[in-house]
Amino acid sequence: MQFCQLAEVFDRLESTSSRLEMTDILSDFFRKVEPSELRQMIYLSVGRLHPEFYPQELGMADKLVLKAIASVSGRTQKEVDDLWIKLGDPGEVAEQMVAKKKQMTLFSEPLTFKSVVEGLTLIETATGKDSQDRKMKHLARMLHDSDPVEARYICRIVTGRMRVGAGAMTVMDALATAFATKEERPYIERAFNITCDMGLVAETLAAGGMEAVGKIGVAVGSPVKVMLAERLRSLPDIMDRMGGKCAFEYKYDGMRVQAHIKKGEDGFVKLYSRRLEDLTHNFPDVADALREQLKGTEAIIEGECVAYDPSNGSLLPFQNVTHRRKKHGMDKAVEEIPVKIFMFDLLYIDGVDYTVKPYSERRAKLKDSFAPKEEGLDIVDYTTQAVITDEDQAQEFFDKAIASKCEGIMAKSLEDVSIYRAGSRGFLWIKYKKDYTQALVDTFDLAVVGAFYGMGKRAGVYGALLMAAYDPDTGRFGTACKLGTGFDDAFLAELPNMLEKYRSEKKPSSLEAEMVPDVWFVPGVVLEVTAADISISPIHTIAFGSIKEDAGLGLRFPRFTGRVRDDKTPEQCTTSAEIVEFYQMQEERDSDESEPSES
Ligand code: ATP
Repeated sequence: MQFCQLAEVFDRLESTSSRLEMTDILSDFFRKVEPSELRQMIYLSVGRLHPEFYPQELGMADKLVLKAIASVSGRTQKEVDDLWIKLGDPGEVAEQMVAKKKQMTLFSEPLTFKSVVEGLTLIETATGKDSQDRKMKHLARMLHDSDPVEARYICRIVTGRMRVGAGAMTVMDALATAFATKEERPYIERAFNITCDMGLVAETLAAGGMEAVGKIGVAVGSPVKVMLAERLRSLPDIMDRMGGKCAFEYKYDGMRVQAHIKKGEDGFVKLYSRRLEDLTHNFPDVADALREQLKGTEAIIEGECVAYDPSNGSLLPFQNVTHRRKKHGMDKAVEEIPVKIFMFDLLYIDGVDYTVKPYSERRAKLKDSFAPKEEGLDIVDYTTQAVITDEDQAQEFFDKAIASKCEGIMAKSLEDVSIYRAGSRGFLWIKYKKDYTQALVDTFDLAVVGAFYGMGKRAGVYGALLMAAYDPDTGRFGTACKLGTGFDDAFLAELPNMLEKYRSEKKPSSLEAEMVPDVWFVPGVVLEVTAADISISPIHTIAFGSIKEDAGLGLRFPRFTGRVRDDKTPEQCTTSAEIVEFYQMQEERDSDESEPSES
């Protein structure tokens, strides 16, 4: 296949914001592509050569890309750099410069899809001495043969700016349209949720149909999308919802880790964050302990890594464990910031998929699968758990969790239906935190989609940010507040740097917004925000029409908590449904408070 056919599809996707239209464009295209090429195309559509959980080293600095553009366009470096300052996107610079080059050069061959993948692979694998120069030359070779639109996408891919607007939900809709039925769509989604590999699912489906997709299973080495909890505003509400009986576990304030453990000669241990980053190098002590203490041969477990004070064993808040994420001096960090893993789930062990088994079975098997450490301190532990049957027990367990420096509790269903629902948020797990007992319901994790230049003391830096939540049903973001408090000077100084690679010349196609900031960003950075309450908003677009026709919902008096949620992707931030839920909880709370008491 010629690369220009794929570039044309990217271009058409980028120029529409209609999910239906994107689905049509993609499904038509999928039918024409060889299954073996489809896999790689799916990866490339999000700017990758591999699935999301595989570390990618493709990122080229803008300066290097501009050098390659200058070398093939016959323009001076200054002309290219000046255009980049004006446009901000090396992809658009390449497009304009290559359009001019076309009038001058005759000896170029059309790019094939295969040759582009080969070129990108050479860029990714170039290491060592002169590697920057070699990367630049590999890129220049591709640009020499590309047309303007191809050049745009190649430069976006190598600089990590590839965003054509079609999210995972749209790709799955298109796969179902092209190769299956609407009714079979949930099975495609399940295959994706248990492998996190859309390329694999697409190739399997295109080559072998739904029968082959049905055979895709949970496997060590392929991360599983995490199961998430709903929230309720009181312990009695939780007991009620759980039918009077459920398990309670301490809710630890640490970092969620999914561990894939395989023993033997070809063995490995990989620890994944909930956004599929490989955290193994941050927790080498945890990885070793899990490998040593696993009784079986291979397993996938989940747990919370929590820092503790070695002098008295007391658990420390989340911020402490994040220090482990610094890239340098890991030996020192392991010593200075000891952590424990509190395991809470088992997804797979020795050939058996436990995600389809109820909670009690998973918990019992988990507790049976690790041997205690023979001597010295055991850093592998289990979450404290008890079966709760009445409200007094619930309150007592919650108080103990808080006294043990936990955030609250996780209530877990004991019903037969309580399987591990990969990638979904539901009432099989319900979280209840200390914060819920105060006026406000919970924190919000919102994506930065815009910035306003500061004034006065904040002149020269961004003074406020436009923040958005996500609607998984439409695959789009909607604004929820303008955030201008809670920032310290160091954070404000760091912000432009943190946001630069997400900068966009226009409003991102995945965003609904009425408010217009000075600078747009495609959703990338997620910040934790608190607010006084939620109100109906004429200007914000999240949950538009859900509570009131022609209005969205907005956070009042939002404040940054100081926590950058770099463990979350923008698609994992607070959803529009959760904001509606918060709003309704707040309305109920307010009406309860205004009711006269019985005495
Ligand atoms: P969410 O994970 O629901 O999107 P969040 O990341 O902001 O939200 P919380 O609202 O604090 O996190 O609660 C869920 C998280 O609690 C889990 O993702 C997990 O990291 C953590 N956790 C701590 N203890 C447990 C436990 N016993 N069982 C399950 N999760 C737990």
